[in-house]
Amino acid sequence: MKFLHNLTITDYQDATIHPDDRGYYFGDGIYEVFRIYNGRLFQEDAHLVRLARSAAELRIPLPYGLPEITGLMYKLLEEDPVEEGILYLQITRGAAPRGHAFPPEGTQPVLTAYCKPLPRNRDKITGGIRIVSVPDIRWLRCDIKTLNLLGNVLAKQEAVERGADEAVLHRSGTVTECSSSNIMMVKDGTLWTHPADNLILPGITRQVVLEQARTVGIPVQEAVFSLEELYSADEVLITGTTTEVTPVILIDETPIAGGQPGPITRQLQREYQTLFM
Ligand code: PMP
Repeated sequence: MKFLHNLTITDYQDATIHPDDRGYYFGDGIYEVFRIYNGRLFQEDAHLVRLARSAAELRIPLPYGLPEITGLMYKLLEEDPVEEGILYLQITRGAAPRGHAFPPEGTQPVLTAYCKPLPRNRDKITGGIRIVSVPDIRWLRCDIKTLNLLGNVLAKQEAVERGADEAVLHRSGTVTECSSSNIMMVKDGTLWTHPADNLILPGITRQVVLEQARTVGIPVQEAVFSLEELYSADEVLITGTTTEVTPVILIDETPIAGGQPGPITRQLQREYQTLFM
């Protein structure tokens, strides 16, 4: 395994990070997870646009231009080829003596990345998953893909401890998203999902699936819905770079669609898979 540190690629076990890195102190950084299919990055432009937006919102200067970052990622993939996996990339505000305010001008942001094999989770994609509802206690800028993920970490851990695969988050009963994926429901043939505002991460997979749904004539509603409405949905699915389109068959104690992946979910899965299979 290899490790990209700014412009240098080393062996993963030789990686060194400065103890004053603000990513370590404050989670002061941003990241992206790219899917690798057939040895190539999937939806890389959309991920890079989101990376640049996250950087701008947090006023972290990008250390390199987007074409240069793309070049670095492909150089990493060339030195460490992966057929089916992920490329993780993060940028922190850099290393400086600890202090909450931004570090002195000229502090170099630190870009790191690696790729690793990760097979598609074919069992869950086919058979569906169980999720549990958890209050959404995160901050009000969930649209920024920051390293600060404690709300997500605690929610996922609760899901694991309750024997589930994922946590669906809600603010006073209004469904937002999941701990590491977006959520959608099908009701009377319409696909519903939370609007892409400050309360959710604007998922790349979410965007692709919504576009494909519109193209094949499935009506789409980007509007809020409640946990109660989710329980009584005809179908529920989650979307994400690594989860792709995964059916939800149980929420808390309530089976969805009779505990089986539904037909519109299956259709959306087929559409999504045409993009890389
Ligand atoms: N929401 C959250 C909180 C996430 O962590 C993720 C995974 N990055 C998503 C949604 C899905 O986003 P994407 O489709 O871009 O992977």
